[in-house]
Amino acid sequence: MIELEQVTKRYGNLFAVNALDLQVRDGEIIGIIGHNGAGKSTTLKMIAGLIAPTSGVVRVLGRDMAKESTLAKRDIGYLPEENPLYENMTAREYLTFFAELYGLPAAKTRARIDELLGSLNLPEKDKLTGEFSKGMRRKVAIARSLLHDPRVLILDEPNSGLDPLTSFFIINYLKTLKRQGKTIILSAHNLFHVEYICDRVAIIKNGRMIVCDTMDAIRATLGNREYQVVFRTDEHLEYERKDGNYVFRTSDVGAMAEILGEISENDWALVDLSVQESALEEIYVRLMTTERQ
Ligand code: ATP
Repeated sequence: MIELEQVTKRYGNLFAVNALDLQVRDGEIIGIIGHNGAGKSTTLKMIAGLIAPTSGVVRVLGRDMAKESTLAKRDIGYLPEENPLYENMTAREYLTFFAELYGLPAAKTRARIDELLGSLNLPEKDKLTGEFSKGMRRKVAIARSLLHDPRVLILDEPNSGLDPLTSFFIINYLKTLKRQGKTIILSAHNLFHVEYICDRVAIIKNGRMIVCDTMDAIRATLGNREYQVVFRTDEHLEYERKDGNYVFRTSDVGAMAEILGEISENDWALVDLSVQESALEEIYVRLMTTERQ
């Protein structure tokens, strides 16, 4: 469990993070989204114990990061936004170097690195990290954050700047980690990925949390649902036409029931009935462009 209680981070007069409350349950994936400068990285760094809050409490797996961060960090894997790598090592050499630095038992290290290289599809020799593509560099950085098999993963934009296939590989890899029981908190700008992978989504605006809930709950309160009924009849009606059919769209479930009744009573042919729900992207843009805080 990760808990933030009224966490604030100030830089001079700027509230980078302002009175944030958040609870991430064990085994959950939660995505933080927000504009550039919203406070996502600052929040993640405070959870990882890299910077201290100005006020408030951060607890990771029951440990107060202000008092027990050294112990807590054993259970935390942190992926920074940038991945500085040593350029002249192979992936295996790089990971071995960090495993030694972290003091991981040598006997276990080899098997762990084998597992990570294999599951992340990384070449272990022939290529040096300096010659790696952006996607491979990101994967090496992810492998590094996982070396000590942490229970909690804090990932700052895990797939920023990656092509769609590599992004999806990483997103699916995170799903596998969740199945292994990891608790994951990540930030992202690609809202489609967040919607696809996260159990809950936190939206931050100017350092403040404006929403934190499941996608279903966010859609129910902030989204739109549109019903589309497509039917066919030879009668002339005042509805929208498409490909020889009539199309009736509404967000009112009662109006949809009425048109279905009319179709049935008149023996018209029902061609299709579908429901379209707002994507996270649409809700996010609306939230960001309104004054709501
Ligand atoms: P992005 O999406 O661009 O990565 P972000 O949501 O991660 O943005 P943060 O990096 O957390 O945003 O920054 C939040 C605010 O705090 C910004 O206004 C930033 O300029 C400011 N900030 C962050 N770190 C510092 C620092 N060390 N000193 C002063 N201001 C800082």
